[in-house]
Amino acid sequence: MADESGTDVVYSATERQQYRRDYYQANRAEILAYEKERQARIKADPVRLAREREQNKLRARRIRAAVRAKGKADKLADPVAMAHATAVLERRNEEARLRSRKRYADPAKRHDQKTRDANSRRAHPERWLVRSAKARAKEKGLAFDLVATDVVVPSTCPICDIPLCIAEGRWAGNSPTLDRVDPETGYVKTNVRVICFNCNAVKSNGSAELHEKIAAYMRGHNG
Ligand SMILES: [Zn+2]
Repeated sequence: MADESGTDVVYSATERQQYRRDYYQANRAEILAYEKERQARIKADPVRLAREREQNKLRARRIRAAVRAKGKADKLADPVAMAHATAVLERRNEEARLRSRKRYADPAKRHDQKTRDANSRRAHPERWLVRSAKARAKEKGLAFDLVATDVVVPSTCPICDIPLCIAEGRWAGNSPTLDRVDPETGYVKTNVRVICFNCNAVKSNGSAELHEKIAAYMRGHNG
């Protein structure tokens, strides 16, 4: 997977997986030696060891919450809406991959940069939401006047009650997203709130009247 040959090449998940597998096989001895040395370094430093344990614990908790939330989201959403949300999700993740390839181009700085970004995303999700909204507003020619303090990320989605989770560098169904209450008005202070990715994708697919009709249709057919 020659990243240097150009940023526009898109690899499938299987190709990326194969690349990682080949890379590991080719460099197995070095990788294992480095990991052993790293573990020894961590063990020798009680402060770092404690921090590492705490981080692992938090990470495990986040993963468990994400898995639970995903199960709930799969059950809640209907297949058509789910397919649409998944397609949007895949496109967003592919765009994010292309961006991250540029941002983390320097292998020497990559690890530190990624850690810093992930910590900042978790500590200040509103800043990241506002930043990406600004880019989208520019792209779509929409009004924009938000600053990070205008946005509050709730612990659960106000529509479907799913716990919102800042994903590990990937978009997920329960990622917090910035919703334009009225899509035409753009990203202005009085017109935004935070809802989950799934609800946002479903909502963006039709008017309130259409959603009411779909709900009535579904109820009629489900019971
Ligand atoms: Zn939701």
